[in-house]
Amino acid sequence: VSRPEWNEVEEYLSRTLVRGGPGMDAVLESIDAAGMPRIEVAPTAGKLLMLLVQIRGARRVLEIGTLAGFSTIWLARGMPDGGRLTTCEFLPEHAAVAQRNIDAAGLGDRVDIRVGAALDTLATLDGGEPYDFVFIDADKSNNVEYLKRALALTRPGAVIVMDNVIWEGTILDPASDPDAAAIRAALEFMGASPQLEATAIQTAGSKGWDGFAIAVVK
Ligand code: SAM
Repeated sequence: VSRPEWNEVEEYLSRTLVRGGPGMDAVLESIDAAGMPRIEVAPTAGKLLMLLVQIRGARRVLEIGTLAGFSTIWLARGMPDGGRLTTCEFLPEHAAVAQRNIDAAGLGDRVDIRVGAALDTLATLDGGEPYDFVFIDADKSNNVEYLKRALALTRPGAVIVMDNVIWEGTILDPASDPDAAAIRAALEFMGASPQLEATAIQTAGSKGWDGFAIAVVK
């Protein structure tokens, strides 16, 4: 589903409010140059992530799904001095592109890219200082597990954002697509968890008809 006006409105919003920031166009170009899929968040959503990290005052940020580091850079820019971000990426070739982009953004000393299946990486993070902000944006089939791990790795007041929760509306017909079923299970987990206060917002734009969920850990 897509309407040309959605893109025009998004471009207007990006131009008026986001303006990318230094180096952000180069990050997007690096995705194309490496032949990677254009599945990064829209610039308007990237800036929202930065603002949410700022509003939360998050010093410890966890990301699941790095791709080329576009959302990573936005998240890291929202952290105060001394903030640290851990980002999990399965594919070494994606992680290599992300590392170059993160270094070029001057954030190499604040961002730790962990290569491997995120569930394996998350298991190694147990017992460390808790995270105050988690962004989930990887394989949808593991979303419920990522939420459970996020709960184990955060403390009350932490914010969890999960991307792609509308998936072109396929969540209404979970039998049509295993990812839709997994996304729906994650939304239902969020709604039923006594440890989470959550909502979700639909979006329309360059990424089609989609949306994100946001939750606070109680
Ligand atoms: N957050 C990025 C952004 O907005 O710029 C986009 C991430 S992209 C939607 C999803 C990424 O998750 C891909 O780079 C993919 O290789 C990675 N991924 C998929 N399955 C994974 C897993 N099990 N563990 C870690 N990363 C995974």
